[in-house]
Amino acid sequence: MNIGQEILEILKEEITESEYKRYIKQLMYDVKKSTADVAIFYAPNALVVNWIKNKYTEKIEHLFEVKMTHKVHVKITLKNLTDLKKPKKVAEVKQGSSLLNPSLSFSNFMVGGSNQFAYAAVKSVSENPGNVYNPLFIYGGVGLGKTHLMQAAGNVFQNEGLTVIYTTVEQFLNDFTRSIRNNTMERFREKYRKCDVLLIDDIQFLSGKEGIQEELFHTFEAIKGNGNQIIFTADKHPKKIGGLEARLQSRFEWGLVADIQPPELETKIAIIKKKCEINKVQLSKEIVNYIATVIDSNVREIEGILSKLHAYSQLMHVDIDLEFTKNVLKDQMKEKRENLTMDAITEVVAKDLNIKPSEIRSKGRSKNIVYARRIAIYICRELTQNTMPQLAQYFGMKDHTAISHTLRKIAELIDNDEDFKVKIDELSNKITNIE
Ligand code: ADP
Ligand code: MG
Repeated sequence: MNIGQEILEILKEEITESEYKRYIKQLMYDVKKSTADVAIFYAPNALVVNWIKNKYTEKIEHLFEVKMTHKVHVKITLKNLTDLKKPKKVAEVKQGSSLLNPSLSFSNFMVGGSNQFAYAAVKSVSENPGNVYNPLFIYGGVGLGKTHLMQAAGNVFQNEGLTVIYTTVEQFLNDFTRSIRNNTMERFREKYRKCDVLLIDDIQFLSGKEGIQEELFHTFEAIKGNGNQIIFTADKHPKKIGGLEARLQSRFEWGLVADIQPPELETKIAIIKKKCEINKVQLSKEIVNYIATVIDSNVREIEGILSKLHAYSQLMHVDIDLEFTKNVLKDQMKEKRENLTMDAITEVVAKDLNIKPSEIRSKGRSKNIVYARRIAIYICRELTQNTMPQLAQYFGMKDHTAISHTLRKIAELIDNDEDFKVKIDELSNKITNIE
């Protein structure tokens, strides 16, 4: 038995059997690379690495010290680089394709107070296209089920033999520009204006794009004129989307505008249970409740956690218990924060306030630019590890004193201006929900 194994054997006596089996037993001591002062252990995946680093490194170092009578530095690392690969999502939704995803159905959609209005509206449109609410406009935050509901209706229509087009604003725009370039506008118009149901996702991206707004306006008029159905989604109420042509904006509100709010606890629990059932993941009631309380709103994030739990438990051949879940969640939160960049933050703030990221980073002094810049600086300071000089450089300010002056000003605003504080909270939440 080598020294590394010996130490792990001693450790085994001091911890619970399940902890040992789950984590410590997975460690492999590298006899060749370890020296008198450095002990190297390999773990099979990042989760075990983190767990042991946080919980056992000191303990192992202590045991080495007792045994060797001098200090030994313990290193826990991944066995090889291929282990770094992230686990695949359990149920991967095809992105960027205009095809409907058949698994997004009404029966898979859990209804609660937060989404029952939107659900009822989409459901009734699906039963009576072109007649009840036309257009139907669904809006709400990221990952709250807008696309799911829209596609659920699309699937119903498609199963009834109707011609359904599901598209995002971006795809619609791409298709439009390609048609202009290839001289195939006629075909483009035939396709979008003659369908039975048109579903357009994420309308907020129309903001400031005039050419495509005009095209969409005429598409809308044609479809509505034929008595066919249109459904839109967006991340905010049509009134709050800036940079829209007035005639288009008003038409968004012609039919019914329904919102989706973040799910309350019970709905979250129901959603988690449903996702477990669909993905064949088994979780105890305690764990389901735990996840539901920790994740505040974004349902997509719940799915990410379930896939991670599932993947790790398969990798490590263990059941998912509460401690394991807590660790995976901690890991996920940390990862999310570490991946946040000032670019990403600035982009979200800019989009929300309808200005350009470059304006936020410019020296512009107009009121709305200063407002956006303050928010972006504050959130970057709170959510990233960047230093004051780095912030100054990024936001085009003279030096760190300029930043610290701005931060003081912002703190003052937060104390005295309720609207400002609400905006900061809203945007911080949005940003931490970025995937
Ligand atoms: P959005 O379009 O609002 O950003 P999505 O419709 O893409 O959000 O939803 C994100 C994920 O969460 C999807 O996988 C969806 O199935 C799931 N989801 C959201 N709300 C619900 C719900 N009420 N019941 C079941 N799944 C939900
Ligand atoms: Mg969506």
